[in-house]
Amino acid sequence: MNNSFDLQSLVRPNVRELSPYSSARSKYGAGLLLDANENSLGAPWIEADGLHRYPDPAQASLREAIAEWRGVRAENIFTGTGSDEAIDLLVRIFGTPGKDNIIITPPTYGMYRVAAEIQDLQVLEVPLDDSFEPAVDAILEEATPATTLLFLCSPNNPTGNLFPGNKIERLLNNFNGIVVIDEAYIDFSGDSGWSSRVVDYPNLVVLQTMSKSFGLAGIRLGTAFASGSIIEYFMKIKPPYNINALTGKYAQESFNHLDTIHFNIEALIEERERLRERLIKLDPVQTIYPSDANFLLVKMNQAMEYYRKLAENGVIVRYRGNQYNCDHCLRITVGTPDENDQLVNTLKEIKL
Ligand SMILES: *Cc1c(COP(=O)(O)O)cnc(C)c1O
Repeated sequence: MNNSFDLQSLVRPNVRELSPYSSARSKYGAGLLLDANENSLGAPWIEADGLHRYPDPAQASLREAIAEWRGVRAENIFTGTGSDEAIDLLVRIFGTPGKDNIIITPPTYGMYRVAAEIQDLQVLEVPLDDSFEPAVDAILEEATPATTLLFLCSPNNPTGNLFPGNKIERLLNNFNGIVVIDEAYIDFSGDSGWSSRVVDYPNLVVLQTMSKSFGLAGIRLGTAFASGSIIEYFMKIKPPYNINALTGKYAQESFNHLDTIHFNIEALIEERERLRERLIKLDPVQTIYPSDANFLLVKMNQAMEYYRKLAENGVIVRYRGNQYNCDHCLRITVGTPDENDQLVNTLKEIKL
């Protein structure tokens, strides 16, 4: 463990001091609820009942379900409107505008930079090495006393690879700030990830989401795992009713369907490898990187032209050739078998 770690000194001073919004209900619990100016006649045209009430601001039962699933305690869990909300709250808790900075490791997910820049934090870049792994020494050298956050994405978007545990561990032990590991794709990797380790590392925040492996991008439910002290800051500054009642309901229901979720994860992994075998046979395709996620990073001749032609033919993939070390690359999400057939057939038919 990092002996000099001091959580309070990393927290933006006004966030440390502020007192959160508090509702009467969170103090007194159940009873005749005439405290929140809800409409007591409700919305009778919707069958789901209870929607006229504000949802539980603490998301107690949902956090309990996630805790049980991941083998941690509910107090180590924050639930947000996608992991994007957790990223936004992180830069606000740990970033004093115009003063602090964050480190990102390109090529990586774009939201870390956007969230940091909205908060007027400087963004330092320490690129991944040629194997798309974190350059640990370079990261530690780049960090300044004003560096409060390091964002790692494992498995990484857009490269698809899981980062080696020993490199992450060295960063956790030596980086003087919060280490965020974004595990949006962890369930496709076969690795158990770092969520249960937040009790060992007070500077660790792990982000997960229901958008990918759970197949629920539409409900917007993300999770941050961290020490109880860090979670308290999340709870302090989040909008009180950030998880709406429908999202909470569908998120919680998904834990009754873990068999289906696991079955689909396996199916997507198999389909990913089937897609890889077919794509690599195509003339313009040069390299397909190993993937621990539900997408492939494909290096190909005339990637931009193929990207455009695919789109003209109704097949949308992501051009990533402008990302560090990803020249001539497309990022392709693994679809259903039919969708993947369509992608491969369209690629075959394109004449440049
Ligand atoms: C898709 C993705 C997310 C998910 O964000 P949500 O807001 O939870 O939908 C987070 N991080 C990475 C790296 C992603 O690729």
